[in-house]
Amino acid sequence: MDQTIVPGRSGSGRPQFWQLARRCCQLAAAVDVAFFFLFHLLGSPILAWINVISVGMYMLAFWLLGTRHNGPAIVLIWLEVIIHAALGTLLIGWDSGFHYFLLMFIPALFAGMQRRKAWVAVGALWSFYVGLYALMWFVEPLQPISQGGLLGVFLFNLTVVFCMFSYLALFYVSTVSASQRALNRMATIDALTGLFNRRHLAELADKEIARHARHPDQLSFLLLDVDHFKQFNDKYGHDTGDRVLARVSTVLAQTLREQDFIGRWGGEEFLVVLPGTGLVQAIQTAERIRCAVETHSWVFEDLEVSVTVSVGVSQYRAGEDLSAVVARADLALYEGKRLGRNRVEVGAVEPV
Ligand code: GH3
Ligand code: MG
Ligand code: MG
Repeated sequence: MDQTIVPGRSGSGRPQFWQLARRCCQLAAAVDVAFFFLFHLLGSPILAWINVISVGMYMLAFWLLGTRHNGPAIVLIWLEVIIHAALGTLLIGWDSGFHYFLLMFIPALFAGMQRRKAWVAVGALWSFYVGLYALMWFVEPLQPISQGGLLGVFLFNLTVVFCMFSYLALFYVSTVSASQRALNRMATIDALTGLFNRRHLAELADKEIARHARHPDQLSFLLLDVDHFKQFNDKYGHDTGDRVLARVSTVLAQTLREQDFIGRWGGEEFLVVLPGTGLVQAIQTAERIRCAVETHSWVFEDLEVSVTVSVGVSQYRAGEDLSAVVARADLALYEGKRLGRNRVEVGAVEPV
């Protein structure tokens, strides 16, 4: 039975759903405690004691969910709601509004099951709902309560269902928004350094170039490369290399201005876009970065290393595309490597 209600993959695949299920168990148990007193007041002890059993079932389901027995927990919750709704309706009538609780399964079914199975379950739920309604046309409530009491129970049930639906809707919306934010982050941010990844930085740089076409001003690029990084990895290990890359990105972020864009362009290469910046200022910025990396205290626990970067600088020329301006920075970078590394070099400057 577990298999039809909870597909195996959802047990581990949708942690938020199971977290929500646990929260709902707590809420439902609290509501049932309230019912216990309400039905005693209304003179319906059978219903009052049914709620004690319900609280027990929800506590058990809560525990099962906590120990990752999700299938049995969902079966228990299903049983509780179905039996509770049916008994409540049979005992005090359709107008008690107990049937509304059945509707709360609809979103949960689609969230917790494969789509086809969810449709089948919704069909079964609909049949049960309609069956219960039809039955109440033919049978009288077994333990009727006063009209005023019935109205009170109806309003209480309706209010609880409204609140729970609102809570579920808020939960689904915030889960979807959080997933979208996470996806967006994964699509734009490099996981190791926390900087923009190449694709996103290229998009931002293209926008900057398009803006330059409408409002020409100065725009410069820096291409940075960590010196002798292969040797570094060989000597200190790839993990230390990773930590160096993360630290270089922190130094970059601290050295640059808010309006500058920094991204990881390749393995140990970084591209910086400097809007509103001419060549002289870009060279100064590059020198500041080079110096900041060189003088940074490269201490990892008891290991002290030295790290330097070479920087190629290029100024954007009207009409060229991103790859052209980056290629000139790359040539300058190559020159910096050739001339001994830990240097800033400038790409060929021609009249604009
Ligand atoms: P150069 O001074 O000429 O730039 O020499 P280099 O050794 O830095 O350049 P090369 O292109 O020969 O090697 C780059 C090295 O960067 C090789 C690669 O293992 C390392 N690398 C690239 N990406 C990563 C990374 O994400 N983590 C670590 N630890 N190393 C990386
Ligand atoms: Mg390189
Ligand atoms: Mg390198």
